[in-house]
Amino acid sequence: MDTIAVKFGGSSLASAAQIKKAADIIRADANRRYVVVSAPGKRDDADVKVTDLLYRCYDEAAAGQDFSETLGRIADRYAQIIRELPVDFDLDAEIDVLREHLRTKPNRDYMASRGEYLNGRVIAAYLGYPFVEPAECIFFTDYGVLDEERTFRVLGDRLRSLPNAVVPGFYGAMPDGRVRTFSRGGSDITGSVVALAVKAKLYENWTDVSGMLSADPRVVDNPGVIEHITYTELRELSYMGASVLHEDAIFPVRRGGIPINIRNTNRPGDPGTMIEPVLTKGIRRGVVTGVAGKKGFTCVCVEKSMMNAEVGFIVKLLGIFAKFGVPFEHCPTGIDTVSVIVDKNLFEQNRENVLLEIQRELSPDAMTVEDDAMALIAVVGHGMTGVKGTAARVLKGLADGDINIRLIDQGSSELNIIVGVNEADCENAIRAIYSAVESLM
Ligand code: ASP
Repeated sequence: MDTIAVKFGGSSLASAAQIKKAADIIRADANRRYVVVSAPGKRDDADVKVTDLLYRCYDEAAAGQDFSETLGRIADRYAQIIRELPVDFDLDAEIDVLREHLRTKPNRDYMASRGEYLNGRVIAAYLGYPFVEPAECIFFTDYGVLDEERTFRVLGDRLRSLPNAVVPGFYGAMPDGRVRTFSRGGSDITGSVVALAVKAKLYENWTDVSGMLSADPRVVDNPGVIEHITYTELRELSYMGASVLHEDAIFPVRRGGIPINIRNTNRPGDPGTMIEPVLTKGIRRGVVTGVAGKKGFTCVCVEKSMMNAEVGFIVKLLGIFAKFGVPFEHCPTGIDTVSVIVDKNLFEQNRENVLLEIQRELSPDAMTVEDDAMALIAVVGHGMTGVKGTAARVLKGLADGDINIRLIDQGSSELNIIVGVNEADCENAIRAIYSAVESLM
């Protein structure tokens, strides 16, 4: 059987009406056997996510304040869902457990996880599927990272013994059994872990957009949906701030070579974005997959005559940044010059130490820190490999837009072209580049 693991995000499960849409999607394909659920999210812009209410409730209880109003709001969210589905579920008993927990010694992660737990219980009852408790089969090590070996063994055995199941996202258990959550948005990770544990042929991630867009819609008007993207391209674009998935959700499925399909619960007919290990043969794809930009970089420029002849100069230079915990992002070099592009905030916290040590260890002829922050913009696409003219278009687009380029970087993989511009030019530069390459998408 071609098993599909499906995960529904908070906006897809924010109300009874949304849960019904999700249930229709699940029932429409018998391969959709394992369902990972988020806590109810926002029903509209003014609404509050249940997870945020749970954190608030915990904070109030931990500070010895009255938490009853917040707990009441949480109970009301579920009561409305249960009434409108409708489903037979003893909510009062569950809320009593929470109240008791908050009165004794509340645990922050346990409280946060209850959004997914309760939604999982309600949706399992509604679908008539078994409920699988993540604290019994998703494990963290003492360091708080996923215990992969134990998780994939126990979770895989458990799920394969069931025809279908609902698994709450976002949490698992520490070695001593205490509940622990992933970071925010972590139900995406649970979905990916479930997909790998059952060796699914596909991980469907249902959300409220019809896939990943080829640029930020707040910057570019009507960017297109990316129909196919590889994991590598996704990593490049996500690093630059384009987000559809929790960053850590990629690794389990990538390891298993399982594609992820981002789909829209409100428009189930839309194909969404297919994220694949490698490009599927025969799929028509453009030269460029997407454009994304990120602000907040700075550049440290070091000059020393005969630098190119000094073996190990750049290793020593980057070692100094590493010593003070400042990772370098890019490092374009000239003959006797090198520019180290770093995160501006991280660098500022360590500026004195780094500069003093460079002075002491490397005695450069000159060293400058560019005070104007830089934005980096990446044009990403496997299709650029071996194809002429993309860089020319990018640079001409920027020149026509009267935008000064501070840095140009293209690795020999030809997967991306990165340009650095003044932060103030970031949005204009993205728009200029996007229109220059739009016809190549
Ligand atoms: N409910 C959690 C959050 O809001 C996890 C998730 O939805 O993925 O971050």
